[in-house]
Amino acid sequence: MIQHNLSELGLSLLEVTYNNNFLELLISENITKDFWHKIEQKFVMYDQYIKILNTSRSDKGYTIKALYASSQSKLEEIYLKYSNILDHKELGQMLDMFYMHPYSQGSVMFWTKHGIRAFSYLEQLIKSVIKDNYHEISSANLLNKQLFEHSGHLQKFTHNILWLKDDTFILRPMACPQHILYFNLKPRSYKELPFRIYETNTCWRNEARGAVNGLLRARVFRQDDGHIFCTEEQVISEVQLFIKNLEFVYNQLGFIEYKFYLATRPEEYIGEIYEWDKAESLLKASIPGIQEAKSEGAFYGPKIEVHLKDAFDRWWQCGTIQLDMFLGSRLNVFYTDLEGNRKHPIILHRAIYGSFERMLGILLESTQGWLADPMIPYHVLLVCLDQGKAAKILQLSSNIRVLECHESLSAAINISYKYRIPRIWIAGTKEGVDEILVRYHDNTQSVKKITSAIDEVKFE
Ligand SMILES: [Zn+2]
Repeated sequence: MIQHNLSELGLSLLEVTYNNNFLELLISENITKDFWHKIEQKFVMYDQYIKILNTSRSDKGYTIKALYASSQSKLEEIYLKYSNILDHKELGQMLDMFYMHPYSQGSVMFWTKHGIRAFSYLEQLIKSVIKDNYHEISSANLLNKQLFEHSGHLQKFTHNILWLKDDTFILRPMACPQHILYFNLKPRSYKELPFRIYETNTCWRNEARGAVNGLLRARVFRQDDGHIFCTEEQVISEVQLFIKNLEFVYNQLGFIEYKFYLATRPEEYIGEIYEWDKAESLLKASIPGIQEAKSEGAFYGPKIEVHLKDAFDRWWQCGTIQLDMFLGSRLNVFYTDLEGNRKHPIILHRAIYGSFERMLGILLESTQGWLADPMIPYHVLLVCLDQGKAAKILQLSSNIRVLECHESLSAAINISYKYRIPRIWIAGTKEGVDEILVRYHDNTQSVKKITSAIDEVKFE
């Protein structure tokens, strides 16, 4: 990580983000040659080299994306590697999973059956960890703005909210107040705590035109949103259970490296400092030794952020669990304790993906489309040289998604690469009657019994 501060440049630099060899600069004016030259000089001073990738414009300003490295040759090497990366939007279209369109700017225009399947797998993974421990609900999408006025979200996120014409109703930007309403439907006892609520919901956010980016930042997206109502004594075990579930899901998806950060009290906050200190110490105790991200917490409480590393060494912020000691009193949330006293519970806001779309986008880019078996459009490309044998294989593998190919092996290899099909089954005449040649995408191959080749495919 480069330690120097680019704001010393005296230019209207609003934000600098480093992500391994990636650099993102947000500036208020359009880039000029002079500006770029100054940045280059600054990097050279610190023995770093830089290469611009692209620029984009948003309401906040101009964003410049670039690569940097410690030598010119290293920079060229990295550039070569990254310039070959396909964008998740290109991959989505190539694999016939989803399509963007100017008529639906900021959201996906069409999900195909292949995209829906991948999405469902992500949802199924989340449901496998929440199981019966959560009250799964589905709440309203169109809500009176008063709900978000009471919770404080409206004042805080007013520019991100999508209004309907008469300014009374808004499209759901988040689900916190709705889940609180659900908890409040009945009088609650301490015996019901921890009370966990979950829903897969759609959220609408008014992102700036230049800020939207396919699945990674959309105006309409689906969340794996949940809230846990608990006592102070239950916080640590609840956070630890959530982290355990999150690690399971990330590992299933093939991510092996992630970092946890404790985002502490921001400049604008509600409540008292001693309450924040207590909340932060509870989160610290949940993950001993956790690194701090100072002043990055939510206005209602500190949070643990989870950043995961993809196959190209880039870091992404995905999961989060946030400790909220204030929304409970603001929205009159109570439970009755053992002695019969009415108390406010602590509310934990939690999400493993944050956004299903974003997680799918990260997975697509990170694997370059080589997704896990349950998510891919086709498990197998079947080269039908011996028609009789091919028909028999199709009959035996009716549960497997097979794309038939009647061309040569070299053509089949190109097709399998284009559609990211991880294995080719060659139904020829050279092998035994119940055997096929199996070729994998790492170019290894072996003769196998048809039944054992079928056994290799992992179903949902
Ligand atoms: Zn929430």
